[in-house]
Amino acid sequence: MSDDERDRIERARLPEGLRPETLAVRSALAPSQHGENSEALFLTSGYVQPNAEVSARRFAASEDFTYSRTSNPTVRSFEQRLAAMEGTEAAVATATGMSAILLLIMGLLKAGDHVVCSRSVFGSTINLFAKEFAKFGVETAFVSQTDLEEWRAAIKPTTRLFFAETPTNPLTDICDIAALAELAHAHGALLVVDNSFCSPALQRPAALGADLVMHSGTKYLDGQGRVMAGALCGPEKLIKDVFGPVIRTAGMTLAPFNAWVVLKGLETLGLRMKAHCENALKIAQWLETRPEVARVYYPGLASHPQHALAMRQQGGQGGPVVSFDLRGDTPEAARAAAFHVIDSTRVLSIATNLGDTKSIITHPATTSHGRLSEAQRQAAGIGQGLVRLAVGLEHPDDIGDDLLRGLSTLSKGQEQ
Ligand SMILES: *Cc1c(COP(=O)(O)O)cnc(C)c1O
Repeated sequence: MSDDERDRIERARLPEGLRPETLAVRSALAPSQHGENSEALFLTSGYVQPNAEVSARRFAASEDFTYSRTSNPTVRSFEQRLAAMEGTEAAVATATGMSAILLLIMGLLKAGDHVVCSRSVFGSTINLFAKEFAKFGVETAFVSQTDLEEWRAAIKPTTRLFFAETPTNPLTDICDIAALAELAHAHGALLVVDNSFCSPALQRPAALGADLVMHSGTKYLDGQGRVMAGALCGPEKLIKDVFGPVIRTAGMTLAPFNAWVVLKGLETLGLRMKAHCENALKIAQWLETRPEVARVYYPGLASHPQHALAMRQQGGQGGPVVSFDLRGDTPEAARAAAFHVIDSTRVLSIATNLGDTKSIITHPATTSHGRLSEAQRQAAGIGQGLVRLAVGLEHPDDIGDDLLRGLSTLSKGQEQ
């Protein structure tokens, strides 16, 4: 190694104790010999080795770079930055959020093992546990998001994993991460928290006792609705020794281009989340004053059942998603009201994803929760009048005005 090269790598080593805002901008691999200030995008599947001896060493150790299914410098920079922001030793990036859960289960569990999972987690997560993993003999008990006693009662001698997501989509129920971690650990199980909604800018589950933090990077980490990505963050021992060999073999690897987009997204995560939350709180407070609205679900409001816990756990912020129930004497009337408000918007996007600069409005009962029976939907609290708003970065008054188009003409709209 030349002196120049040593200096370059040495200089890229950050001092201890840097704050999250700094880590979000600075954590990454050392720059290349060209000294680029913005992290480079390494679009390469393979790596030329200097000689056969070094090649043999790199393949044996699975360190450095040999093939991009195993690792890639841009992906590695994303992993380092996300781990630094979550406060975990390491992270492994995956192609999507769902493939992070696939990697989690392939790495940690085998047939006969048991999982306890909130029944209010992301819909595809429920399907993955209830249908796909069940085929391979991994059994899952689904329990209340908020009642710790149900988690306790579901534990079996074979329970290896607790899986939680907080707040939930679309009703924003909060679970107590520290309490779940304590319960899991008392029974020799690990706690995994899906942190896609809050992101490390608001909530750092590892600091509250979670063993692993899972991400859909597709949401707020990218934050601009461009690429799919996922990750697991946790102790080096699990990331490197347990998940490393599985992802290398099974190949649910993040593409370098997507890693680069999300890596750069992390630089503005804190600023974006702050703005999303400020806008969401304003909209939620305003919706609570509207006569057409029966109920607003937002952890930042004092009316939220777990408001105090949310404020403690989420750095004093309510998060980016607000849901509300429109009044309606019958489910049909409530649905007509919801459709009218959605269809009257001219700025918001009618879509089912979230985590974008653009505000997104959704009718959960006919989209994300459309395949449930009416009884299942009611048990989940997803009424026909429910509207979910993933609040973006537009001016909050423009978001409010856009909702008002439908709200203020509701009786007219329903007569049509
Ligand atoms: C979107 C989402 C997922 C799945 O992530 P993909 O990147 O779409 O695979 C998992 N959990 C939560 C909370 C999500 O919002």
